[in-house]
Amino acid sequence: MIFGATGDLAKRKLFPSLYRLFEKGNLSEHFAVIGVARRPLTNDEFQDNVKKSVSTAIDKEDRIEEFSSHFYYHSHDVTDSDSYASLNKLAEQLDSHYQLDGNRIFYLAMAPEFFGTIALHLKEDGLTNVNGFKRLVIEKPFGHNLESAKELNTQLRTAFAEDEIYRIDHYLGKEMVQNIEVIRFANAIFEPLWNNRYIANIQVTSSEVLGVEERGRYYEKSGALRDMVQNHMLQMVALLAMEPPIRLNTDEIRSEKVKVLRALRPISGEEVKDYFVRGQYDSGSITSESAPAYREEQMVEPDSNTETYVAGKLLIDNFRWAGVPIYIRTGKRMAAKSTKIVIQFKDIPMNLYYQTEQTLNPNLLVIHIQPEEGITLHLNAKKAGQSMEATPVKLNFANKGIDGINTPEAYEKLLYDCMRGDATNFTHWDEVALSWSFTDKISEVWESTVEKNFPNYASGTMGPKAADELLEKDGYFWWPVT
Ligand code: NAD
Repeated sequence: MIFGATGDLAKRKLFPSLYRLFEKGNLSEHFAVIGVARRPLTNDEFQDNVKKSVSTAIDKEDRIEEFSSHFYYHSHDVTDSDSYASLNKLAEQLDSHYQLDGNRIFYLAMAPEFFGTIALHLKEDGLTNVNGFKRLVIEKPFGHNLESAKELNTQLRTAFAEDEIYRIDHYLGKEMVQNIEVIRFANAIFEPLWNNRYIANIQVTSSEVLGVEERGRYYEKSGALRDMVQNHMLQMVALLAMEPPIRLNTDEIRSEKVKVLRALRPISGEEVKDYFVRGQYDSGSITSESAPAYREEQMVEPDSNTETYVAGKLLIDNFRWAGVPIYIRTGKRMAAKSTKIVIQFKDIPMNLYYQTEQTLNPNLLVIHIQPEEGITLHLNAKKAGQSMEATPVKLNFANKGIDGINTPEAYEKLLYDCMRGDATNFTHWDEVALSWSFTDKISEVWESTVEKNFPNYASGTMGPKAADELLEKDGYFWWPVT
């Protein structure tokens, strides 16, 4: 059941991802999708919507008729208790028609204020009373801060156990985010160096070119810290910094990630300005077109104090990472759309090539998450010719080049994981809670002080100057991501 089946997420991501699974044979004949939303629609109209959304996203759609015949629509206001009984009836009919063994997945693709109500109704009206498995998939944001997240979690837990709740962080479905673990733990050359003796710093960038678009109302209450740092950025940091799990299963991996988040040094009060930088975009030009300032966007206050950019320095107080800064930055209306991780290794103990008056570049391992997928290793090699000069070289691995097919969309992987009952790439409550308690301390300071310099970066740039200074203080700089 997809709650919010006429919404943007269902249309752009969920229907095409389900189709890809179906086409690859990862979704058998034994499935039915009930779309739930307020608008009155017939099954035929709903199936037409599904077909349109699939054909917009995918070129080859030979089995679209067969696929869409599995879709049913239930017009239903989720706050209306009476509709749940008829929804259950429809689900029971489909269960016997498609032989679903009582297995149900409830996907909440709608505004988070409804999550609690829906979960309570699902239980009260018997929809979760099934012979098979029941799973709840929910989208971000998971609460607005630790307190509201706890409240939401308590509501969900009345109807679902922790291991039945699949909290989506779509970054965890990305091919190269999943690859962090393999690069680290399947190569003898990286893991021995993966610590404070050999790594100087780590830089995680997730930049967008787009502005806030139509999401001004939501974004005003959220800002980049809640929208990106609390979830995606801290999840990537946890994967980069975790200890090797004793087994590659959900519990062991999550438990290692949780330890990283527990070791994250809390930043609060006066320290916030030394470790974190906030930014808000001004007008500027994006690919030669002029773009408005954040404060001029729809549904945004003309004197908004909301940050559209965050840069921060994180420290993980454990044996492996003591003293290694992990810099993160994320923002809207930046110069490039790019998610990248740069691991900068320490300089070699003695540079034999100084006599050539040349400083050696440090070794870098760059993990390209999007839009390109791959890794680049920056080394130094001999410059061809008579002299013994060193020159930088790059070893490149592009994910797409190797098998010639596009890697699956994050949502496709995550939906498949959920159907198979693998929660590894979803966020556990402990991770959510620890991440909120870290970011809440920063939000408290930012919300109680007006940033007088806003707007402080022009659209189409890599963020405010203060973000560069954050690294300069430590003798580093941001490696370019473009
Ligand atoms: P949307 O506004 O496009 O769609 C909301 C859906 O909920 C619609 O189908 C609407 O009919 C339905 N709905 C609203 N009120 C209802 C009610 N009272 N009863 C029944 N149905 C009701 O939203 P969206 O962009 O699809 O986002 C859904 C969720 O996914 C949100 O939590 C959002 O934060 C999250 N999300 C969206 C995206 C995205 O790309 N759109 C990405 C990440 C996360």
